[in-house]
Amino acid sequence: MSFFSRNRTPDTAIAESTAVAETEVHPARPALVVDESAAADPIVTFEELGVARDLVAALNERGITSPFPVQVLTIPDALAGRDVCGKAKTGSGKTLAFGLPLLMGTTTAKKRRPVSIVLVPTRELANQVADELAPLAEARGLWITAIYGGVSMSRQINALRSGVDLIVATPGRLNDLLERGEMSVADVRFVVLDEADQMADMGFLPQVERILKQIDGNPQTLLFSATLDGAVGELVRKYQHNPVTHEVESDTQSVDSLAQRFIGVSTDDRLEVAAKICAGATRALVFVRTTHGADRIARQLAATGLRTQAIHGRLSQSKRERALAAFSDGESPVLVATNVAARGLHVDGIDVVIHFDPPEDHKVYLHRSGRTARAGEDGMVVTLVLPEQMRDIAQIQKDAGLDLAIVSMRSDDKRLLDLAAWEAPAGLVWPTGGGSSQGGNNNRRPAPRGASGRPAGRGATRAVSHGDHEGSRRDREPAVAFSRRRRP
Ligand code: ADP
Ligand code: MG
Repeated sequence: MSFFSRNRTPDTAIAESTAVAETEVHPARPALVVDESAAADPIVTFEELGVARDLVAALNERGITSPFPVQVLTIPDALAGRDVCGKAKTGSGKTLAFGLPLLMGTTTAKKRRPVSIVLVPTRELANQVADELAPLAEARGLWITAIYGGVSMSRQINALRSGVDLIVATPGRLNDLLERGEMSVADVRFVVLDEADQMADMGFLPQVERILKQIDGNPQTLLFSATLDGAVGELVRKYQHNPVTHEVESDTQSVDSLAQRFIGVSTDDRLEVAAKICAGATRALVFVRTTHGADRIARQLAATGLRTQAIHGRLSQSKRERALAAFSDGESPVLVATNVAARGLHVDGIDVVIHFDPPEDHKVYLHRSGRTARAGEDGMVVTLVLPEQMRDIAQIQKDAGLDLAIVSMRSDDKRLLDLAAWEAPAGLVWPTGGGSSQGGNNNRRPAPRGASGRPAGRGATRAVSHGDHEGSRRDREPAVAFSRRRRP
């Protein structure tokens, strides 16, 4: 039996809901199911969602025993052959939400003609998704490989020639291979766009559409992101058929276990403040705006005695992978990154994310911040704010639904040593006198309301545990992920 489009019944009765952006996309069609009760149901198991036994066993081996809410909501529809839009917080398990139905639908491919493709925005994410799905693919006797730029094409070509059922790819390299005639997507029956809103951005959309247009027939299409809005509507309209949209916790995208602090700093002291915070972290991810900035800040943090690496788009892929590996292994507990690391990446045990340079907008804030507090863990996010950045930060907070004071601190402020111990006061206000450099002065409104800061004292910066599956993930080859072919 196939789970693909041919089985789809466009008029399947779907619970209709009222207010959602996505309904504008298909005004005539019921598009959204918000079914939080299903997500909250404690007794639901992967088997009950329809996940095959071999996959359930492979999940159990990695310590994954019960589904997360986004998985409860989306897996049954995906298995029923529906096109799905899935919106759920960062770190909430979207990879398996699309990965499990994908693996159940994927069949043995002809050489150079994969059956399933997952498109992702970055090379590291391609690796990570392939790594996460590889042991599950192996349990099904399926071949999976990651395809992305910056590494030798010949290995990828060889893999395609020997027959790959499922590929996880960045669009640029995939298009290169298509143009060279090394592969075809004509037989693709199953398409996933992870970080779908970014894949629909101006930067990616032409590349993505070039791929989608070469697919014969109507593949089943799954779109997932923590911020599924804006440009994604065009992809939905053009490439999805009678899609169902599932949104977990639609009212807010903030993650409950995430503590957020906004610290006013002066230009001369910003690096020192960041260094103090990094020194107290197990694993700190520091976001900066530019590639040069990433190299420079990494050098400066290293000069304070912190083992630090940089990752950005101008490094060779081998350097990118080495930096990420050193960060994951704990060999280098500080990683300075551009937004190349903002989306999708999951490294166990990142307890602090620092916005050293402010994020471009609230979506970038959310995705960068979402590298911590994943899969129910605690996490701390610190935004450093120069006086001239106050206005932009106010806008980002507003758009993100936050209302937190920017608390000015010098690098000798003791509160930097235990960020979890003080609660960010609610109420974003303009600093008086334009200065932000003197320690201990909270710029705050007197009457806090709608505080989004997590209560203090839960030890957010240290409470880090490592998943059971961590070892197996690291042991795998970094560049191209294969599962061995095991045919009956
Ligand atoms: P997202 O794509 O939503 O940001 P991921 O798919 O990267 O999140 O998942 C975050 C982490 O949660 C990963 O380490 C993943 O293996 C783990 N995870 C996913 N689903 C489950 C589950 N049902 N139980 C336990 N851990 C899970
Ligand atoms: Mg993801």
